Amino acid sequence: MTINHHPSDETLMRMAAGTLGAGPALVVSVHLERCAVCREQIANFEAVGGAILDAMPLAPLAADLFARTLERLETPPKPAREKTLGKHAELGIELPRAVRNCEVGPWKWLGPGFMWSKIKIAGSPDAKVMLLKGKAGLHLPAHGHTGLEFMQVLSGSLSDERGQYFPGDLDEAGEDVDHRPIVGEDSECICLAALEGDTRLHGLLGRLLRPIVGF
Ligand SMILES: [Zn+2]
Repeated sequence: MTINHHPSDETLMRMAAGTLGAGPALVVSVHLERCAVCREQIANFEAVGGAILDAMPLAPLAADLFARTLERLETPPKPAREKTLGKHAELGIELPRAVRNCEVGPWKWLGPGFMWSKIKIAGSPDAKVMLLKGKAGLHLPAHGHTGLEFMQVLSGSLSDERGQYFPGDLDEAGEDVDHRPIVGEDSECICLAALEGDTRLHGLLGRLLRPIVGF
């Protein structure tokens, strides 16, 4: 499998530094499961980050750090959240590993031939992340974004003015991109999509999503 579309270096750097939001980080994690090129790039960034940390003078540790750490270790873990392994069959797809610890909702109607499923990331209730499923040949409404939109193709294919996207590809679309994705003619397409922070979609897709999806 050839992967032609990858997260930007800036996104991979933020992933390595742990500063990428939970939704985009989930989408990038799914990309990394299939992309050795990006896994190596992340490892490079982590090595550079580690070298910078090593070169920095050590800050004195807080006096109560040890006590606080012990306290945290002794706090009983929260009860396990409902796992969603049983729900895969309902969605009719094999979920990527990174998504299996999330709460994944059932497919819901979004428009003719267009479904979505809400993904909840434990500890990040505000993350805007979902699965999208479009029937073969579906023209999605044209839209732009106020910030970054991340979309990882899981099955089928998509295309827009900038190129074609197949399973394994991650499309990162910023404010400079106004696009109108079209699902490939051969089969339905399922994607994992996340919006960063306060990113809003504008155009018809935004008006469609906001009342139903909430973003
Ligand atoms: Zn990649």
